[in-house]
Amino acid sequence: MRYAIIGAGLAGLTAAVEIRRADEDADIDIFEATGRIGGKLHTVPFDAGRTDVGAEAFLARRQDAVEYFESLGLGEEIVYPSGMHPLVYTGGEAKALPKGGVMGIPSSSAPVAHLVSDKTAARIDAEATATPIDWEIGGDVSVGKLVRERYGDEVVDHIVSALLGGVYSCLADDLGLRATIPQLAEALDELAEAGEPVTLSRAVARIEAARPAPTDPPAPVFGTFRGGYAQLYETLAEKSGADIYLDAFISAITRDNAGFRITGGAEAADKPYDRLLIATPAPTAGLLTKNLSEELSTTLKTIQLADSVVVAMRFPTHEGLPDNTGVLVATDEPGLHAKAFTFSSKKWPHLANMGGALVRASFGRFGDNTALRTDEDTLVDYALEDLRTVTGFDTETHKPEEIYTQRWFGGLPRYDETHLATVAKIRKQAESVDGLELTGAWAGGVGVPAVIADARAAGRRVVGG
Ligand SMILES: Cc1cc2nc3c(=O)[nH]c(=O)nc-3n(C[C@H](O)[C@H](O)[C@H](O)COP(=O)(O)OP(=O)(O)OC[C@H]3O[C@@H](n4cnc5c(N)ncnc54)[C@H](O)[C@@H]3O)c2cc1C
Repeated sequence: MRYAIIGAGLAGLTAAVEIRRADEDADIDIFEATGRIGGKLHTVPFDAGRTDVGAEAFLARRQDAVEYFESLGLGEEIVYPSGMHPLVYTGGEAKALPKGGVMGIPSSSAPVAHLVSDKTAARIDAEATATPIDWEIGGDVSVGKLVRERYGDEVVDHIVSALLGGVYSCLADDLGLRATIPQLAEALDELAEAGEPVTLSRAVARIEAARPAPTDPPAPVFGTFRGGYAQLYETLAEKSGADIYLDAFISAITRDNAGFRITGGAEAADKPYDRLLIATPAPTAGLLTKNLSEELSTTLKTIQLADSVVVAMRFPTHEGLPDNTGVLVATDEPGLHAKAFTFSSKKWPHLANMGGALVRASFGRFGDNTALRTDEDTLVDYALEDLRTVTGFDTETHKPEEIYTQRWFGGLPRYDETHLATVAKIRKQAESVDGLELTGAWAGGVGVPAVIADARAAGRRVVGG
């Protein structure tokens, strides 16, 4: 059986391994537009060691992902963070991120009292007895709209958007509740089903009450690979046994009696393929399915993308850098360009002795691609100025010794409140094209474990389909 996979990012490579596991004689070709594999996973060789400039962690609580990495022989390569805490820069000061709650949404004012005004704190505490939310069971709303209406703007602009922006490159207002904080949508459903007053603070309290008691020491929330994500994408490429064609931009796909025919890329594409798996960002998948199903193509193209930029810097010393994992910047903080800093060599013990301090500055979110269009020197100046402002670290005396700027065009899909319905529609429409499967960060979640889970399922389906 001949398989073509478009895109050698995490999704395409994972699907290829899954195809190989199900069909050991499979003839698999992967076509990748750029000159490297990995997509949004990208480990670059700093003189001091390997450094990730795309994803830098995964949710270690996703046991399915950890077991998958073990099955690839990477179990011993997983490392965990130092246990230091993150900060949020708001009101001109770096302050502790609140504990508890859900994505920065508290059940009472106590955890966020240092981040909001007294007026907002009082409003949070009064919310449980305010007029209940007119909640439709199974319904959805933008996270920003819900929290603004119930707790006020400060909770969104100082905390929730900063936290969600770190994961989705979007403001809370551009994200759907059910797609991004499903447990909160479900808690609202449960309150409505039980006939109890539906309020935000009650729903958050319900989630907090159901959480298992913390272990001692606490179980790590995140993990990563000792040698960076390159360990994962290189292992996947090897285990797939696929022929991977780089600089192979695919511009069109057609289908005839012999199978799928691919335009662009390498010579191998001249032959027909029995099965096709598209693992590109959704708008590209839309272009590529144009000749296969017009309606599928149209739906895929409605998913929008958020651009971002990462500037990774290595400074000669840690002196003056706070003992924290990083700082998120509140979205209403004036005069700053960066949205977050990760102090990688403080966050990850395995990077602590890299020869200085490794810091990643992140820029950009949905609807604001200023950073993407800013020239490199200016971006680095922004990163240095903002780092000095939020931490006091003396970037004049301790100039960076290595810098890498990575622009992520269309870095992440926007999971707004229509997203889940759009994905369901795509799944249905794709059924009309025999032998076709689609996967990627737009399909089942943007995080590495979610992308892997969706790609594995798609890989199994395309073999069986
Ligand atoms: C800056 C950043 C930080 C992140 N941090 C984290 C994190 O810490 N933890 C976490 O869990 N997740 C993180 N993520 C999310 C995660 O990295 C991504 O969701 C995931 O890597 C996406 O994988 P993918 O294979 O779906 O897409 P991609 O990585 O985009 O892969 C798609 C591939 O398709 C190729 N392609 C596109 N068009 C064509 C074409 N026409 N022909 C051939 N090839 C084509 C592309 O070049 C690319 O290689 C981060 C994302 C970004 C952008």
